[in-house]
Amino acid sequence: MVGSAIVRQLLAQGVPENDIVTRTRSELDLTNQAAVRAFFAEAQIDEVYLAAAKVGGIHANNTRPAEFIYENLVIEANVIDAAFRSGVKRLLFLGSSCIYPKLAEQPMREDALLTGTLESTNEPYAIAKIAGIKLCESYNRQYGESHGIDYRSVMPTNLYGPGDNYDPELSHVIPGLIRRFHESKEQGAPEVVVWGTGTPRREFLYVDDMAAACVHVMRLPKSGYDKHTEPMLSHINVGYGDDVSIAELATLVARVVGFEGDIVYDTDRPDGTPQKLLDSTRLNSLGWRPQVGLEEGLRRAYADFCSSVGA
Ligand code: GDP
Repeated sequence: MVGSAIVRQLLAQGVPENDIVTRTRSELDLTNQAAVRAFFAEAQIDEVYLAAAKVGGIHANNTRPAEFIYENLVIEANVIDAAFRSGVKRLLFLGSSCIYPKLAEQPMREDALLTGTLESTNEPYAIAKIAGIKLCESYNRQYGESHGIDYRSVMPTNLYGPGDNYDPELSHVIPGLIRRFHESKEQGAPEVVVWGTGTPRREFLYVDDMAAACVHVMRLPKSGYDKHTEPMLSHINVGYGDDVSIAELATLVARVVGFEGDIVYDTDRPDGTPQKLLDSTRLNSLGWRPQVGLEEGLRRAYADFCSSVGA
């Protein structure tokens, strides 16, 4: 989802198609160190956007913790080290807002990292993403001057949009609700079940806004990036700036999809962290703002879902 949006963004900004090198999962297994090294040794890459990751919603994270920690650690370690060995000077690592402590002060600033206990439903994923930030920082600290490298990190809030995973059990909340409300409308069902209590608050960013932020941060002059970061606190939050409760989100998705029945809550499902709202002051000071509001973004995401299922 994010990789495709970054490609759309680069093309829209006039980068020639031939200059953009992508690999699908079946073409290059990023958990295979030898394959990743061979790819970088041959491909002559200048800049890397590392958007590839094992991702999923609260249920997927909760039930497949080994896959989430192992695959993400290995993908990051393989790509960052192979990029360095092949002479890549600029790299952007994409993390996640779940790196912050469960009860971090809201909105969460970058310096909340490693100040408290993580949310248990996604701790393994979060630990892997924190390791990714620290890989970038450590390579910069050890090789920044000697090899002229500049590896940066961005931490997006919950993302949604075209190319999302609409699996009913394993997806994040927006694609999960889009599918459930759509199918309930088609079947004329009287009610839709939403997981948890409806009270957790989440911030959502449209994926093309995230892609624009990635290109923006990649292109910032080093002096600007360094001015707003520190060598061991170098990641930058990318948020929308506002959050909604899951109940408010469900009402909005119902409206966008055109479902007119009832919404009921399954409190046997976990809520996860009570609130996740990023403080994006760093990135705003560096000149980036989101463009797509939640309702407009949900309309575009629903159109993408409909075309993916042929509705
Ligand atoms: P999180 O931000 O890591 O907790 O990831 P999710 O996007 O999976 O879940 C966000 C919130 O939405 C949690 O409180 C979930 O319990 C709630 N939620 C409600 N309905 C759904 C659903 O159908 N799928 C998912 N994934 N979450 C849901």
